[in-house]
Amino acid sequence: MRILTSKLPALETTIFAVMSALANKHNAINLSQGYPNFPSDPKLMELVNKAMKGGFNQYAHMNGEPALRQAIANKFELLYDITYHPENEIIVTAGATQAIYTAITAVIHPGDEVIVFRPAYDSYVPSIELNGGKPVSIQLSSPDYKIDWDVVRKKITSRTRMIMINSPHNPSGTVLSEGDLLNLQQITSGTDILVLSDEVYEHIIFEESHQSVCRFPELKTRSFITASFGKTFHNTGWKIGYCCGPKDLMDEFLKVHQFNVFSVNHPMQVALAEYLKNADHFLQLSEFYQKKRDLFLDLVGSSRFKFNPSKGTYFQAADYSAISTENDMEFSRWLTVEKGVACIPVSAFNLNKKDDHMVRFCFAKTDETLKQAAEILCKL
Ligand code: PMP
Ligand code: GLN
Repeated sequence: MRILTSKLPALETTIFAVMSALANKHNAINLSQGYPNFPSDPKLMELVNKAMKGGFNQYAHMNGEPALRQAIANKFELLYDITYHPENEIIVTAGATQAIYTAITAVIHPGDEVIVFRPAYDSYVPSIELNGGKPVSIQLSSPDYKIDWDVVRKKITSRTRMIMINSPHNPSGTVLSEGDLLNLQQITSGTDILVLSDEVYEHIIFEESHQSVCRFPELKTRSFITASFGKTFHNTGWKIGYCCGPKDLMDEFLKVHQFNVFSVNHPMQVALAEYLKNADHFLQLSEFYQKKRDLFLDLVGSSRFKFNPSKGTYFQAADYSAISTENDMEFSRWLTVEKGVACIPVSAFNLNKKDDHMVRFCFAKTDETLKQAAEILCKL
């Protein structure tokens, strides 16, 4: 009989896999897992073909294709007038999930505390725990999910090693303000606390401008930024992202990266480097998704869901308490199985699965799909 001690004994299958499987099984419209149901730009696919045929099929540089790192650096210059050096401050990763895991593994020692705001993307806490770190959760309240920085101050101890933030925020669709980032900067000033800023939805933000940690000089010196091209260019299955940060942090990141992936798929990196030369490809994304958000909100306007319009990401959180008293997992199952629209229960990201009767819909879908889903949602 094998004796196996699980490193994550309480961990369940990720809610994204669970809800997508349920949606497929019952042929429901899948507004659960976050991915577009429309294709990526054919020009980008052409560039991948060209790179493959051009012979970029062997291991890429460990840090990432140099041209792609340069393109990422150029993007930071263009958007924020900020310099990240392509040779030692940017590393291309197999999606943001790997970037997050590698950054945490690089700097979190057993017993280190990591402050995580809940609801939190579901890879954060297991990544901390696998490294022996201690997640210190701060539960935010629906529907605004505002951070009370006095509470954060009180949670900081001599063992606090990192604070994780995510703006625009999955699953709530809220964004952090300049004031939030200034508070974070002030709270961490003069300490050894690092920041992991998950900015995968940087290019999907409505009405406000993105407050990247890199825009705050002192925060930049203590922060990793993680990003995902899957979100930006409608190809979540390609799994390419990056991490950037100051050289000393990225030196440690690279030590882990070289042995958990070594390098990331080469032809797609070459293609992305070329594609990023046209800044419109990412500058137009917010407008594109704002139209989708507005369409979705307009279509579900007469439903009994309550919405605070999403300020960023391609997710819309919704309060269903006028429709049902069931908990959000039961409600999501019912909506998927009985009514044919799949969503994500927000409790999956909360501390102790706190249920606020909130679900998350993904509006990265064709207008036709959104119309079909809304028709059902309006009848509930
Ligand atoms: N962080 C957040 C907040 C996300 O929503 C996601 C899902 N895209 C990721 C990280 C992981 O990104 P990737 O698919 O590139 O691994
Ligand atoms: N980021 C996506 C979401 O929030 C899903 C990613 C995944 O399935 N791992 O829905």
